[in-house]
Amino acid sequence: MIHLEFIDRPHTTQTVPVVCMHCDSPTCAEVCPADAIKRSPDGVVQSARKPRCIACSNCVLACPFGVPKMMSDFELMMKCDMCYDRSSVGLKPMCASVCPSQALFFGTREELELSRPQSAPIDRFKFGNQTITTKVKMMAPRRAVPEHLDVTAAMEVHAPARTVRLEVLNGAG
Ligand code: SF4
Ligand code: SF4
Repeated sequence: MIHLEFIDRPHTTQTVPVVCMHCDSPTCAEVCPADAIKRSPDGVVQSARKPRCIACSNCVLACPFGVPKMMSDFELMMKCDMCYDRSSVGLKPMCASVCPSQALFFGTREELELSRPQSAPIDRFKFGNQTITTKVKMMAPRRAVPEHLDVTAAMEVHAPARTVRLEVLNGAG
């Protein structure tokens, strides 16, 4: 229920995992005409309730982070629910439990700060005039942590193209 996205495919094979950010005011639920997306009291935004979902894809189009996926075969929207069957009883979500580099981390803020002393968490994201706060956090360098991450502006920034010189392609050696 998470996606692996290329961040700048023409220039790098680097990928980034995309998980539901569990927004404090989830746009996906706000646009759902069937009230199929519930947010539990602990702040986890659930996947669509099957008896309610009418497969309209409103949530797919509205989520600013591009998270919900329409599963046409089941006529059901499905998304990351923080592995609620696990995380609600204290177990890590599957993604965090198998991540060898801790790029995905599940734990308390204290545990996070201990494991990433050079970084600080961000939970405010700006999309144009809209600011969204989230339960899930992204890490930024502690020396220059911004008040929020301006996602719209970041989409305009392209990494400088890098030329990879391989001797075998250059005909040398
Ligand atoms: S990231 Fe998208 S799918 Fe997740 S809670 Fe926010 S609006 Fe909903
Ligand atoms: S696809 Fe399902 S969960 Fe998403 S907005 Fe439509 S009815 Fe709601």
